[in-house]
Amino acid sequence: MPGLGSDERESIGLRALPSLQRLLEAPETVALLAAYPRSEIVAALRGVLAAARTGFVAGQSVPGAGVLLKEAEAALRAGASGGMRPVINATGIALHTNLGRAPLAVEAIEAAMQAAGCCTLEYDLEAGERGQRLAGVEPLLVRLTGAEAAVAVNNTAAAVLLALGALAAGGEVIVSRGELVEIGGGFRIPDVIRQCGAVLVEVGTTNRTRLADYADAVTPATRMVLKVHPSNYRILGFTAEATVGELAWLTRARGLVLMDDVGSGALGPLRGRDAEPTVRGALASGADLVAFSGDKLLGGPQAGLVVGRHAAIDPLRRHPLMRAVRLDKMTVAALEATLRLHLDPDRAALRVPALRMLGQDEAVLQARAERLLAELAGLDAGLDARVEATVGEAGAGSLPGVGIASRGVTVGGTGIEELARRLRMGDPAVVGRVAQGRLVLDLLAVGDDEVEAVGAAVRCALA
Ligand SMILES: *Cc1c(COP(=O)(O)O)cnc(C)c1O
Repeated sequence: MPGLGSDERESIGLRALPSLQRLLEAPETVALLAAYPRSEIVAALRGVLAAARTGFVAGQSVPGAGVLLKEAEAALRAGASGGMRPVINATGIALHTNLGRAPLAVEAIEAAMQAAGCCTLEYDLEAGERGQRLAGVEPLLVRLTGAEAAVAVNNTAAAVLLALGALAAGGEVIVSRGELVEIGGGFRIPDVIRQCGAVLVEVGTTNRTRLADYADAVTPATRMVLKVHPSNYRILGFTAEATVGELAWLTRARGLVLMDDVGSGALGPLRGRDAEPTVRGALASGADLVAFSGDKLLGGPQAGLVVGRHAAIDPLRRHPLMRAVRLDKMTVAALEATLRLHLDPDRAALRVPALRMLGQDEAVLQARAERLLAELAGLDAGLDARVEATVGEAGAGSLPGVGIASRGVTVGGTGIEELARRLRMGDPAVVGRVAQGRLVLDLLAVGDDEVEAVGAAVRCALA
């Protein structure tokens, strides 16, 4: 509005903006009252009005009532669906940390849902009095790993923190320079040791550490030798490391604790993936404590599991941090159900999604990809969709550098980034990846029962 002062422009323009009262009385708003609380609707309308005022001051035109009401409804819908939404994982990364890592087995989901109400979290029905939170989980962990005792806490980071605090505070902890790792999200072994009030003693070099390096570093202040599986990277070439068996020989002779953080938590050997250390193997080689994750290769809920000797586990149970890092009831229930599935390895391979995904035959993946391609048949001819061989990965720092032969439906053409974005914003959200100018929908982590939904999502995103 040339010729008007900016104050005048503002007062005229803002008068064109509908009032809150007018928006509240609109029939569209009245219809919304059936689905949302009035207070939420008022807050959403205030929000869009404030945004319109800010936009106007920044030079945009004043939106009409219809536009404002549509925006408010979208804001209400987004708010009601919450921050967390279900996702179909078409990334080709089986255990995707950002997408919730291991999807739970149906049995674990049902157990968690039942535990959501009242349950025997710390109650002994037979005795009619207080019971133990981990009364179901610990015996299962003992049976599955061959350990004497077990505890379960909130995650592996907490498990390592607890073990260092209980067994090494005030003393020295020896770690190989090749294992001073950072696990995603800033969990750095040197920092954790310091935080626990212990002194880190580094031995060896990045690529080579021998038993003698550890032996030379032992002093009267040494409490623990900590071995950490470098989950998310590999050192290749001219390398050497002391085995758990060799270290156990040293720690036994010197009265030290040997802890092995194996990370991903394969209970036993995985088909064709023998590079990953197993919990059983570490214990059998003589580790006093083995820490591993509940939601990596074990395929359960987020948890940190520690198994080992009574003498090493008992101080963890009694440590004041225990309460701060304990598991909640839904996790306890889901973990128990997952461990129960592992009692029968053949059943676990079929029922635990993490294991099922990593054990799939290429023919199964090929068939799933062809089904998805068929779902897309008849869509926009410019879509240029086809089945391609892809290389997926286990994810979550498990099996680094080990590619998993998979299949994807790839889509070419212009506007691929926009299609990928629409798929992410859809309901359910579908997360793929864009590589070499094509959108890849990898079938590695997509269930047979999700193929139709992915097809529908693409159709919807193109509409
Ligand atoms: C993944 C990992 C951790 C951290 O596990 P969380 O359960 O995510 O805390 C710790 N150590 C190793 C070796 C790991 O691989």
